[in-house]
Amino acid sequence: MNILVLNCGSSSLKYQLINMTDESILAKGIVERIGIEGSILTHKPTRKAKYEVEQTMPDHNVAVKLVLDALVDSDHGVLKNVNEINAVGHRVLHAGKYYSDSIIVNEDVKKVIRDCFDLGPLHNPANLIGIEACEAAMPGVPNIAVFDTAFHGTMPPKAYLYAIPREYYEKYDVRRYGFHGTSHSFVSKETIKFAGLDINNSKVIVAHLGNGASISAVVNGKCVDTSMGLTPLEGLIMGTRSGDLDPAIVEFVSKRENISVSEMIKILNKKSGVLGMSGGISSDFRDLKAAMDNKNELATETLQAYTYRVAKYIGSYVAAMNGIDAIAFTAGVGENAFYIRTMVCAYLGYLGVTLDEEANHAAVGEEAVITTADSKVKVCVIPTNEELAIARETLDLVK
Ligand code: ADP
Repeated sequence: MNILVLNCGSSSLKYQLINMTDESILAKGIVERIGIEGSILTHKPTRKAKYEVEQTMPDHNVAVKLVLDALVDSDHGVLKNVNEINAVGHRVLHAGKYYSDSIIVNEDVKKVIRDCFDLGPLHNPANLIGIEACEAAMPGVPNIAVFDTAFHGTMPPKAYLYAIPREYYEKYDVRRYGFHGTSHSFVSKETIKFAGLDINNSKVIVAHLGNGASISAVVNGKCVDTSMGLTPLEGLIMGTRSGDLDPAIVEFVSKRENISVSEMIKILNKKSGVLGMSGGISSDFRDLKAAMDNKNELATETLQAYTYRVAKYIGSYVAAMNGIDAIAFTAGVGENAFYIRTMVCAYLGYLGVTLDEEANHAAVGEEAVITTADSKVKVCVIPTNEELAIARETLDLVK
């Protein structure tokens, strides 16, 4: 069975075609600058040369059509016909309060995705266009929506309610939803397997540290808390997002800078995080590490604040779960940056965590335990694979 995984952003589309017999990638690629001048498709078939198509792509319908053409192209393709695609798994950002599982798309599901446009204004509209483009291009092929919020649907009210007037929750569904759900679900399951835990008797924390960053507490395979909220702005310090702050800052700064609330929110999303804190050095941790190694004080302070926030969340989730069996680091920073893991684990001695520095240095982008054999809590590096997770969810629903 071949499953196409699609991740539509506002002006981009990433895809992978996976053969589920052995979970091998047949081809992957990205379309960039959809609706903007200079649209480009970069197609990478696994056993053939990379291939680029530069042509005007006014919308996602055209982009999906070009992806399908590339997949069946006589020179660069990997299929004879598009009907060799058995199902399409779509990454969809927001399911609001409606779904806590992946689901086969029908008109009701499309209505929910539409009803959640306000909650995911950049992503949900693009996600829906991607689904409708596939319906038009491949009639009869099932489309599955895999929601970023779904895994967190098991959080109890005490974790998802904000301490604001109840009517905002009742009227506008203002609550915490959480994101990166596909990654937290995949990595928590892999961690349970890799650490040899019994899923029905397990307490796991997943730190997804990428450009965006979030952390989750998972008891017996189910999410009980996570750091992102109504939107992906809450929680950890991220590449360009502030994470937690005193909400009064929004009014305080916007008045002084003479900017609107929405401009201020844009700054908290795009110009804050480690980029903003470091005085603009970079949102990329490789640049910040290089600056820290050069004794740049702003970079050092920024990475200290970043890792301190992660450690504080870990502490609060250990309390929330009344214990901890394993902690997993994942995503670009979590999988690659040993110094970030060292700095976080330096706070965890009280849990009986003892880091194996050699194993920690050696762990780059592959599953590894980075604590010593006598550590009371296993700390692991577990690479995330959101495309494979979406493909597995899709297969489960269509087989
Ligand atoms: P996204 O949230 O965009 O999916 P990723 O999980 O791909 O992000 O993470 C991207 C980030 O990972 C980059 O911004 C960079 O800071 C960090 N990163 C990638 N490789 C390394 C590395 N070798 N060392 C440190 N940080 C890295």
